[in-house]
Amino acid sequence: MKSKPYVIDIKLIKPLFNGLICDPYFFPLNVFNERAIIFLRRNYEGMIKEIRRQLGSAAETLLYLMGYNIGVNYYEKGGKIIAGRDLDKLIRLTIESIKQIGLGIIEIEEINSEKLEATVKIHQSSECELFKKSKKPESHFIRGIMAGWISQLFKSKVEVTEVKCIAKGDPYCQFKIKFISEEKERIKEMLKAISEILKSK
Ligand SMILES: [Zn+2]
Repeated sequence: MKSKPYVIDIKLIKPLFNGLICDPYFFPLNVFNERAIIFLRRNYEGMIKEIRRQLGSAAETLLYLMGYNIGVNYYEKGGKIIAGRDLDKLIRLTIESIKQIGLGIIEIEEINSEKLEATVKIHQSSECELFKKSKKPESHFIRGIMAGWISQLFKSKVEVTEVKCIAKGDPYCQFKIKFISEEKERIKEMLKAISEILKSK
C-alpha cells in the first residue's frame, strides 16, 4: 500500500474492546483546516432548550444573533476563501456544507428579482425538529445563520422570516427573504445572476 503515491502513512487500529473500534489518531477533528467538534442531538437539544428555558423570548433574539455571527463567519472565512468570488461555487459549497455538518437541507425555492425577494426551504431542520407540536415557527439559530450569510454575500440588510415550519406540522421550513437596500439595481442583478445559475442546473 505504501508504494502507492497517494498513501502517506498506514497505522493499525486496535479495537477499544471486543466489537468496537475508535479512531485514536485523527485528533483533533478538522474540517477545512479548522478544528471542529461534533454535538449529539441530546447535547445540542439540551443547550438550546436550556437557553430558551432560562431566557424566555429573549433567547430567540440571542439564538438569532449567535446564528447571524456564524453566518457572517461562514461567508468570510469559509465560502469566500474556498470558492472565491465564483457565485455558483459559493452557493453550491454553502448548501452542501450546511447539509454535511447536519443543520438541514437547503433548497432555493423562488427568486423574485423585481421585488428583491427570495424564498428558501430547509428540509429536516435540526433546530425546528426539537420543537414538534409548536404552534409557531421555531427557527432562530438557523434563520440567523441564513441572514448573516446572505447579508454578507449581498452586502445588504436582509429580513428573514420563517413562514412554514416542521415544528407546527408543515412538511418543511420555508423562509421569506427580503432585501433592504438603497442599491436596488445591484441587488436585482445579483438575484438575476443566481436565478440564471439555478436555471442552468
Ligand atoms: Zn422551522
